[in-house]
Amino acid sequence: MKQITIISGKGGTGKTTIAAAFASLAKNAVFADCDVDAADLHLILNPEIKETMTFKGLKIAVKDPAKCTSCAKCLEHCRFNAIDENFNIKPMGCEGCGVCEYVCSTKAITLVDRISGHAFLSETRFGPMAHAVLKTAEEASGMLVSLVRENAKRLAREQNRDLIIIDGPPGIGCPVISAISGVDLVLVVSEPTVSGVHDAERVIGVAKHFRVPALLLVNKFDLNIQKTEELEKFCLDSGVGLAGRLPYDNLTTEAMIAQKTLIEYSDDAPISKELSRIWELLRGVIDGQ
Ligand code: SF4
Ligand code: SF4
Repeated sequence: MKQITIISGKGGTGKTTIAAAFASLAKNAVFADCDVDAADLHLILNPEIKETMTFKGLKIAVKDPAKCTSCAKCLEHCRFNAIDENFNIKPMGCEGCGVCEYVCSTKAITLVDRISGHAFLSETRFGPMAHAVLKTAEEASGMLVSLVRENAKRLAREQNRDLIIIDGPPGIGCPVISAISGVDLVLVVSEPTVSGVHDAERVIGVAKHFRVPALLLVNKFDLNIQKTEELEKFCLDSGVGLAGRLPYDNLTTEAMIAQKTLIEYSDDAPISKELSRIWELLRGVIDGQ
C-alpha cells in the first residue's frame, strides 16, 4: 500500500483543490483528510458517513467539591492558569497535565477523558474516505491525524485499495509530522509569493528531516514568474524535484462552487490536463519506488 501526502507551508494555497482532483483521477485509492483543524475535502467529495468514532485527545481535570479543603495548592501549581480563585477548573484552559491531581492531598481532583472530536469512515463517489472534525479550541490535532491515517489504512485493507491520498495540514507543526511520517511521497504545493517561498523552504526542510521524498508543485505560477523560478531553483538546489506548475484559473472557484473536482468540472481545460499529467508523474514516481 502506497501513501502520498499533499502539504503546503500555509493554508489557502489550493492544496485541497489539487487533492480532490487527484481523487477523481486515482484508481483504487482511499482518501484521507488530515487537515483536521480546517477540514474541507468533504465539501467537494461529499462523503456519506458509514461509521463515526469519538476522539479522546487530551485529558481534563475535574474536581469533587465535597473533597476540596480550599488549600490552594492546585491554583499555585497550575502553569496554564486553568484554575480560578475559587479553585474551580476552567475547562477551556486545562491542558490535562495532571499537576493539580498530583498536588491535591485530599484527592479532590481526577483526570478524565475528554471528547475532543470525531473521526469518520465514509464512502464517496470516487472511493472510501477517512476524515474527522476537531471541536473548537481543542488541541491534540496530531493525534487525530494519526487516527485518520489509521482509519484510511483500515479502509484500504478492507477494500483492497493500493493507494492512500492524504490531504495534509498546512504549516510545519505536529499535525504535519503526523501526516507525512512513513509516506512514500510528499507533494509540496506552494504559491509564488515572498511568504510562499519562505513557507516552502520550511516545509521542505521538515520533509527532508523525516527523509520523505518530496516534489514541488507551484500553484498560480503565472502570478509571479520570478518567484516561481526562485521557488523552483531552491528546490532543485535542495534535491527536490519539480512536479509542475498550475496557472491561475477561475475554473478552480467555479468547480468549488459546483462542489465538483476540476477534472469533473472541465476535464479538457488546460489546468485539468496539467493536473492529469502531474498525477501520472506522481503515480509513476510512487510505483517506481
Ligand atoms: S489542591 Fe485539592 S483541596 Fe486544594 S484547593 Fe485544589 S482541589 Fe481543593
Ligand atoms: S490538569 Fe494541569 S492544566 Fe489542567 S487544571 Fe490541572 S494543573 Fe491546570
